[in-house]
Amino acid sequence: MRLKREDDILFVVIDRGEGFVGCMKEVLHSSVMENVGVIITALGMVKNAQIGYGVYKDNKVEYQKAIFEEPLELLGLSGFIIKDEKLPLHFHVYLGDPNGNVVGGHLFDFEVFTFVEMALLTSSYPLKRVLKDGLFLIDF
Ligand code: ZN
Repeated sequence: MRLKREDDILFVVIDRGEGFVGCMKEVLHSSVMENVGVIITALGMVKNAQIGYGVYKDNKVEYQKAIFEEPLELLGLSGFIIKDEKLPLHFHVYLGDPNGNVVGGHLFDFEVFTFVEMALLTSSYPLKRVLKDGLFLIDF
């Protein structure tokens, strides 16, 4: 993974074979990272994607998890990286298959198949997460 900071933008390139969540933990603890990172864009090709649909009931979320082993195009990724212990990484993703179909959901992890290039907007604002109705929400 390579990182380059320019003003408030952090450019990230992740290479073949790297795991996404491991790379985002590196970003989180990197000296060029501020308190908050908001994903502006991310694209590339991934495999072994683990995504989930969150079933929310009685103030709890349980994820129906699915694994997509085949290479899929990373069409989009959204989420926050926050230097907060409760939920530092939270991402949602959508992935495209060769027939133009799209799957998506809460992202647990994926492995990079070709590359992933992404940009994060960073902020020093002391954003935190608080527990509300069983979910960790950003709070300001
Ligand atoms: Zn989620």
